[in-house]
Amino acid sequence: MKYIDEFQDPELARRLLDDIHATVTRPWALMEVCGGQTHTIIRHGIDQLLPKEVELIHGPGCPVCVTPLEVIDKALEIASRPGVIFCSFGDMLRVPGTGRDLFGVRGEGGDVRVVYSPLDALRIARENPDREVVFFGIGFETTAPPNAMTVYQARKLGIANFSLLVSHVRVPPAIEAIMRSSDCRVQGFLAAGHVCSVMGTEEYPELADGFGVPIVVTGFEPLDILEGVRRAVRQLEHGEYRVENAYPRAVRPEGNPAAKAMLADVFEVTDRAWRGIGVIPDSGWRLAERYREYDAEHRFSVTGITTREPAECRSGEVLQGLIKPHECEAFGGVCTPRTPLGATMVSSEGACAAYYLYRRLGGTSAPLEASPVG
Ligand code: SF4
Repeated sequence: MKYIDEFQDPELARRLLDDIHATVTRPWALMEVCGGQTHTIIRHGIDQLLPKEVELIHGPGCPVCVTPLEVIDKALEIASRPGVIFCSFGDMLRVPGTGRDLFGVRGEGGDVRVVYSPLDALRIARENPDREVVFFGIGFETTAPPNAMTVYQARKLGIANFSLLVSHVRVPPAIEAIMRSSDCRVQGFLAAGHVCSVMGTEEYPELADGFGVPIVVTGFEPLDILEGVRRAVRQLEHGEYRVENAYPRAVRPEGNPAAKAMLADVFEVTDRAWRGIGVIPDSGWRLAERYREYDAEHRFSVTGITTREPAECRSGEVLQGLIKPHECEAFGGVCTPRTPLGATMVSSEGACAAYYLYRRLGGTSAPLEASPVG
């Protein structure tokens, strides 16, 4: 398949690995920001093919995983209200809130629908003018533009029975929070290529300079990951720290100006809580004042809902790269994809789910369901 097969070529992977092995002289810890990159790494056994000196730390870039429990509880409350049609992408339906999930609400008679685009939810609102239609808008800079566009369209078309439950987060403040943590071991980042395809690379030089870390914009196929690691390790070995774009087939320095303009019109930057991590200043978006009437939290008066995270779930430490998933006592026992305690075990991009799916149960076990690329 074009644009897939050539980025999984075993011979090219071997050459990149040889280059990395020849370059490394001492230990380095790199963080891949995105959960999609984590799954590629674990699925293809890339971490096991790298020199033992190169450690990959799994970052917080899974949108489902970082959505705070209290936002899930707000979604459950709104979805339970009579007359509401609650629309969401499918991966949120099994994320546990306090005592139940959106599937449970549907089982109790709630009208919870899976959609494939926020514009589907807007169409449903148009077709059901006597119902309130809510879309669950979560995610990073990648999913925020279409959600912004949907609110923009709702206002333009005069669709008043549509609203957005917003939980959008931004990557650069999370990188800053990770680097400021006293436990931080990260020496370089593989930045999320899809985020940069929207936002460009302009936010990253300040972070690379300020913290003395290489930041390599990286894609999601095995060769993308290896090239990102190769470039980051080269910089570290040469005592350099700058932003490099290793994903030029998708990322331009300026990003996507139309998407950025839509974000700037509909959203404003705000402090956001990250699940298991806490509030990170300026790390999220909320609807701008002129669009506030489309804010589901206000429309359904759920701003006051607050929830404590379950104590036994260590997803906050997983999301900050402080432990690997199998180091959580609940991993694979109390907590499995069928009985998840935390979102990192539910989400298709979650690190706990990746370790469970590919049988990383501790020690040096090899992945069972996929072959290494090399
Ligand atoms: S294994 Fe389960 S309980 Fe442990 S951190 Fe992951 S999601 Fe939380």
